[in-house]
Amino acid sequence: MDKPIVSVSGIRGVIGETLLPEEALRWALAYGTMVNGGTVVLGRDTRPSGEMLRGAVLAGLLSTGCKVIDLGIVPTPTLQLAVQHWQADGAVALTASHNPAEWNALKFFEPSGMYLDADGLKRLRGIYESGQFRRARWNEVGQIQTDATAIDRHIERILTCVDIDRIRERRFRVVIDCANGAACFISPRLLERLNCEVIPLFAEPTGIFQRDPEPIAENLSELCRRVRETGADVGFAHDADVDRLAIVADGGEALGEEMTLVIAVYHVLAHKERGPVVTNLSTTMAIDEVAKTFGVPVYRTPVGDINVSKRLKEVGGAIGGEGNGGVIYPRIQYARDAIAALALVLEFMAMHEEPLSQLVQRLPRYHMVKKRLPIGAVPVHELLERIKTRYTAEEVVEEDGVKLRWDDHWVHVRPSGTEPILRVIAEAKTPERAEQLCDEVIADLSKMLKVSG
Ligand code: MG
Repeated sequence: MDKPIVSVSGIRGVIGETLLPEEALRWALAYGTMVNGGTVVLGRDTRPSGEMLRGAVLAGLLSTGCKVIDLGIVPTPTLQLAVQHWQADGAVALTASHNPAEWNALKFFEPSGMYLDADGLKRLRGIYESGQFRRARWNEVGQIQTDATAIDRHIERILTCVDIDRIRERRFRVVIDCANGAACFISPRLLERLNCEVIPLFAEPTGIFQRDPEPIAENLSELCRRVRETGADVGFAHDADVDRLAIVADGGEALGEEMTLVIAVYHVLAHKERGPVVTNLSTTMAIDEVAKTFGVPVYRTPVGDINVSKRLKEVGGAIGGEGNGGVIYPRIQYARDAIAALALVLEFMAMHEEPLSQLVQRLPRYHMVKKRLPIGAVPVHELLERIKTRYTAEEVVEEDGVKLRWDDHWVHVRPSGTEPILRVIAEAKTPERAEQLCDEVIADLSKMLKVSG
């Protein structure tokens, strides 16, 4: 039987194939041992396998003596806030995020609410592999406490960080695409609190996804259509665990997930607070342009929520996130929070008279192309080394693969953490140039693969 994939984003696999209850149980035993039988917050998304995994994970945690605060179905950012609220020793989220319905995953968190970092995961893996688990005596087995108010607290927290009256006055008409995920329980409610006219789409929390749960433009055709047909001011889309937000402007154009962070960064710097911006190496260079306008620095980290969140905290940044639609607003929390992002976008819209489709014309916009290249058994470092010497770039960043940057375009070649492939991401001012740049690098890499193979 194949094992689940273990990476910085947790333990994930296909239910009944690579992710089995006995595996989930063992990882929960390891985590319960790592937190020494402390308090652990537990939540899940809407996937049909969630209840089964919950059972396995509960058994593991309780048997190591953990007290479990069970939130039921909640967005991941809601769970991350709840860790701080309960001053818990950690948390487990059961969600495969934007992956298809047959997938599920266990994700682990620190007491701060941030994801376990690479060191934390290494420690957890060590305990898992040792099989040396904490075993509570019969009278010390953990108990479950239910918390049904985590979503309410999350909504209230967000409402303290935006100008509610200003948004309410506008009575925005909003189509909200919840992807049949955990957003069904929070985003429509937040929108109602903001006096929006809410038009729900895929808002049944079944976990049977009627569209691909990844909120990239090509999966949002139904949302675009609804926004157009209803004359809505804006459309929003989430992934299944609500840490990503994509935006469709009035008129029905999907802005692309990179634009979510660009809008959020612009809005926070222009209207809320000035401070450094933190994002990952693969995120659009429009962020640098916006930050430059306001005279603040941009720090770039390897890809991954935990990397961005940690750096944001270190530098006391005003706003950060990832180009996949994950916005991190420190006044709410150091985690990608798509509900917070949604409120920020509405606040941005409320501060201007023009419709969103016109507002975004004022923001810098680039075009990105992402491709993947299977590399078989050829060592990644050899390929990266040769790419590095093959081009003359203005800046070469050797963190998380190799990134070559020029004045108005860049290419980032990074190995996948879980498959024998390279991801090649290129960005330029026009779609054609981005495509050409990406293909050029892939052609070079392919030549090297032929020689090596
Ligand atoms: Mg997600």
